Amino acid sequence: MSQRHPRRLFVTTALPYANGHFHIGHIMEYIQADIWVRYQRMQGHQVHFVCADDAHGAPIMIAAEKAGLSPQQFVAAIAAGRKAYLDGFHIAFDHWHSTDAVENHQLAQDVYRALKANGLIETRCIEQFFDPEKGMFLSDRYVLGGCPKCGAQDQYGDNCEVCGAVYAPTELTSPRSALSGAVPVLKSSEHFFFRLSDPRCLALLDQWTQSGAVQPEVLNKISEWIEPGADGKPKMGDWDISRDAPYFGIEIPDAPGKYFYVWLDAPIGYLAALKSYFDQGGAQAACGETQSFEAFMADPETEQFHFIGKDIITFHTLFWPAMLHFSGRKLPNAVFVHGFLTLNEGEKMSKSRGTGLDPLKYLLLGMNPQWLRYYLAAKLSGRSEDVDFNPQDFMARVNSDLVGKYINIASRAAGFIAKRFDARLGEVSSDGETVLDQLQMAAPLLAQLYAERETGKAMREIMQLADRVNSYVDQNKPWELAKQDALAGRLHDVCSTCIEAFRLLTLYLKPVLPALAAEVEAFLCIEPMQFADAQRLLGAGHRIQPYRHLLQRVDAQQLEALFEPSTATAEPKPAPKPALPGGQALAPTIAIDDFAKIDLRIARILACEAVPGSTKLLRLTLDVGEGVDAQGQPLTRSVLAGIASAYQSADLVGQLTVVLANLAPRKMKFGLSEGMVLAASDADEQANPGIYLLAPWPGAQPGMRLR
Ligand SMILES: [Zn+2]
Repeated sequence: MSQRHPRRLFVTTALPYANGHFHIGHIMEYIQADIWVRYQRMQGHQVHFVCADDAHGAPIMIAAEKAGLSPQQFVAAIAAGRKAYLDGFHIAFDHWHSTDAVENHQLAQDVYRALKANGLIETRCIEQFFDPEKGMFLSDRYVLGGCPKCGAQDQYGDNCEVCGAVYAPTELTSPRSALSGAVPVLKSSEHFFFRLSDPRCLALLDQWTQSGAVQPEVLNKISEWIEPGADGKPKMGDWDISRDAPYFGIEIPDAPGKYFYVWLDAPIGYLAALKSYFDQGGAQAACGETQSFEAFMADPETEQFHFIGKDIITFHTLFWPAMLHFSGRKLPNAVFVHGFLTLNEGEKMSKSRGTGLDPLKYLLLGMNPQWLRYYLAAKLSGRSEDVDFNPQDFMARVNSDLVGKYINIASRAAGFIAKRFDARLGEVSSDGETVLDQLQMAAPLLAQLYAERETGKAMREIMQLADRVNSYVDQNKPWELAKQDALAGRLHDVCSTCIEAFRLLTLYLKPVLPALAAEVEAFLCIEPMQFADAQRLLGAGHRIQPYRHLLQRVDAQQLEALFEPSTATAEPKPAPKPALPGGQALAPTIAIDDFAKIDLRIARILACEAVPGSTKLLRLTLDVGEGVDAQGQPLTRSVLAGIASAYQSADLVGQLTVVLANLAPRKMKFGLSEGMVLAASDADEQANPGIYLLAPWPGAQPGMRLR
């Protein structure tokens, strides 16, 4: 395809679900897309870069109800917090919208009507669990019960977290609604399906996915949905796109009480965000856009790109292209899939588990956002592989590469230019020209690497160029040249070469380090650099500003604070009190809200048994005052306690003790432990091996909270 110049690009990132603040996975994706967008603009292309809050669905409806807010208020509160993160990490979307906005209601209904007119919508009755108290159908995640395989209690309706079994919610033993605790009933309801198994859809997807629109490893993963398998059929089934009221979403036309499933209208939110941007005049103001939204999207030269994570591939590479095509819209040119961000080769970072790198804490600690942008750029590639954040590696790459190799080139040369040469650059002699030639010749390769999202390779390439400049500096030793007046001409030459080289390196890093590049542009008294500016030099006589330090090194203490599990961010860490003779050092002082997080309850020990195979553990069955089940039996918990050396089962049954009730359940070798009983022991277990279980004074009842 012959490409128009400038190209006209429509770029999105995945829409974040508006039930919580951004986590580091969002920020990584936005930084990856932002770098790509900035690179395209440096090539002179026109880019519209938009995103929106994904506002609909049962989780938001339920979270809003818990918070005592309407879903709209709830989403607005989350949306209001977005700016601090986006500005903080220099992520420059042109427009931020919401899937609950009027444009999205209209577009989703338009898409649906077109699919229906194409014969791709049909209705079927399905049976599903229904919560009679809440008056709503329950998705799998809102049904709890006993695992049909291993018997573990409180498992979700789709899979068991203890044994990993996968099942239907109807297979759970003693199922109950996670919302009301009521026993759900099976109820049938009419659902709307998008007939993705239609041969027209399969043919379209086969053609589109083979067209280079997805990465090879992504094509590998999705081809089983399209290509016939061992049974002669592809995996693709029809897609249930409706939900029954009450539901926070978009109403299905001519179907009272039926709403689009959130995953139908979420990607349409890309179009709605762009439409709102155009309709408000943003695109016209930013880059002189003359077409309407409708004309822009109908223009065959418009290119459409989506950045997403590998967890939402099927929605974006199968369902979404089919929705677009069969509603008469153009297909995405490509869907760019990235992997997950892991910490220390560990598990996927998850905010819900309270682990990982909190992006807001990063900013509140005063850490430079460009460190993270550079580090992620250095780790990311065009493939959908995972990216690992390693704090030591982070510090090393920023401090030795970015500051040590790149920033130092300017700091070593600029002072001499200012003090000795009236802040003007001089001529560059032939050995300097050789260095600068090498830097300029790298431009096509670096452009290709950026275009292919191979930023890791690009950063390595740029640092090798910086190495080349540094060895030129080391060969010429400007600080030695400066000692002899007779060598002033050579000093001017070497330092001018350094400043020219520094400008080229900055140009190459500009998509990754936009704020730093703007400071360098001010320091060098130049216009904002475009990629084509790599082919020219500042030249003799060009005047620069005095050098001010451009980038600090990563401070190990900030990095340590970033990964400290406490939520108390910027507060200095209190020192532990030293131990006096005969005493034990106390843990650091905490605030009352730290204590408030700990839910200690009186518990009655209903049963106690030895744990086969363990000499230390007893299995306690506890009543923690959590109410009764459907049969009127008290809900109980099973806790494994390392007190077998101190107590016999008979001593404990019927006794009261204290349990840490909100400790996350732990799967241990001998089973699941749903809490921790409190016991005292001496720091010196050798001298005093006793273990003493706590017991309340008479009168305390199971469920009472310790405060
Ligand atoms: Zn199980």
